[in-house]
Amino acid sequence: MTQLLGGELQELRHVFAGRLITPADPDYDEARRVWNACIDRRPALIARCADAADVSAAIGFARRHGLEVSVRGGAHSAAGVAVADGAVMIDLSLLRQVDVDPLRRRARAGGGALNLHFDAAAQAHGLATPAGMVGHTGIGGLTLGGGMGHLTRRHGLAIDNLVGAEVVLADGRVVHASAQEHPDLFWAIRGGGGNFGVVTAFEFRLHPVGPMVQFGFLFWGLDQGPAALREARDVIDDLPRDVNIMIVGLNAPPAPFVPERHHLQPGYALIVTGFGSADEHTAVIDRIRERVPPLFDLVTPMPYVQVQQFTDEAAAWGSLVYDKGTQVAQLTDDVIRLITEHWPRKTSPSSAMFLYRLDAAYSEVGEDDTAFGGGRSPRFSVFILAIAESPDVLAADRAWVRSFWGALQDHALSSGSYVNDSSEFPDRWVRASYGAKYPRLAQIKRAYDPENVFRHNANIVPSAV
Ligand SMILES: Cc1cc2nc3c(=O)[nH]c(=O)nc-3n(C[C@H](O)[C@H](O)[C@H](O)COP(=O)(O)OP(=O)(O)OC[C@H]3O[C@@H](n4cnc5c(N)ncnc54)[C@H](O)[C@@H]3O)c2cc1C
Repeated sequence: MTQLLGGELQELRHVFAGRLITPADPDYDEARRVWNACIDRRPALIARCADAADVSAAIGFARRHGLEVSVRGGAHSAAGVAVADGAVMIDLSLLRQVDVDPLRRRARAGGGALNLHFDAAAQAHGLATPAGMVGHTGIGGLTLGGGMGHLTRRHGLAIDNLVGAEVVLADGRVVHASAQEHPDLFWAIRGGGGNFGVVTAFEFRLHPVGPMVQFGFLFWGLDQGPAALREARDVIDDLPRDVNIMIVGLNAPPAPFVPERHHLQPGYALIVTGFGSADEHTAVIDRIRERVPPLFDLVTPMPYVQVQQFTDEAAAWGSLVYDKGTQVAQLTDDVIRLITEHWPRKTSPSSAMFLYRLDAAYSEVGEDDTAFGGGRSPRFSVFILAIAESPDVLAADRAWVRSFWGALQDHALSSGSYVNDSSEFPDRWVRASYGAKYPRLAQIKRAYDPENVFRHNANIVPSAV
């Protein structure tokens, strides 16, 4: 470390256009922070890159000095892999420019852009592509692992709309990956996470969306859970493609649209987003309301950008978090029984559960077209999150997450899961998450990163031969 602050760092400073932040700088503590407040790691150097040349220089610097590398996009990984003790953190937060070509319906986004930057730029032209449902999540980690959200039934995962990427490789070269150039790398970065290089720019296909869409948030108390979840299952079975339903376990927010007596009460919600006609959306909402009347609801036209930020405050930076995910094919009566038994046992009012429905456009992509770990048959991706303000409460809800997750394992599609939905990446779990795709990924890893420079992630170990 002392050495780093000497001549070599000066040498890097001469070629570096962005900012180099060391423990001596007043903003070091702020710069090393990540979304999950459990993570408190001290990198040797934070290289806040201004362009691909900076990324290349920072990787070269780390390698020459035997330092590990971590990559920070939006810093939302629950595992906190964006930061590592003693490592060089490649911080992409300056690369947040999003340029939209409305005629070609294409967007080029910097590797450190957040969902909210992307949505704002694309929506200025009435366009969008599937991304996450919280504005402050980075499109970097989100896309490289898959990327699911409100538009996934309509247009697939974020990776299904990726048409190219600028990637800085472990040896410092800057390459372009697409179906025509480095097709193996292009396949691998669509699901294989940050294992293969640092993406400094993503190029996405865009679709007409909004700007106004139909929004519905319907809430039921704990005792209504089984009926509400059965209704969600039934309605999803013949849901129009233009309507998305997300199932959420949460405590009712103390928001103006929530009657005061329900503030912070635990329960279940459906977020029903309509991208087609208002009538189509109303028909779905009316059917649900009629069969299982909610305690309260909010049903209104809303700008798409606002829908995309609806849960931003609830998911704010600074809480202690533990996350585990799994996937189930169907909400059978048994699965509903397990969910409604386990969900009420949490301690923290902030702990939450999300079930993303994956079908329609998601299931029309070929199983081997991308490196995405989960299969493409219709399913629910289940996120179980302990979110707490104190270590004691986190410990209680970490145990709750594990027990809830364990109870669902008899019904899980795999012992692995979605790689973007976990606080831990044990090797066995990563292999199970990629299943039959792992050996191909390990070969590509060997070709592009044989020394496993990019290892702070759901790591794919380079194959030996
Ligand atoms: C509040 C919240 C909401 C979420 N909502 C959704 C959702 O709706 N849908 C969904 O699919 N997932 C969601 N996630 C999970 C999310 O996809 C992952 O946490 C993802 O890792 C976040 O990416 P990031 O860039 O913010 O994270 P970071 O912590 O910065 O990055 C995680 C890892 O990704 C890699 N990485 C990031 N950017 C790059 C890059 N440009 N080039 C190379 N590697 C890179 C690196 O390996 C890095 O260590 C959510 C997470 C949170 C915390």
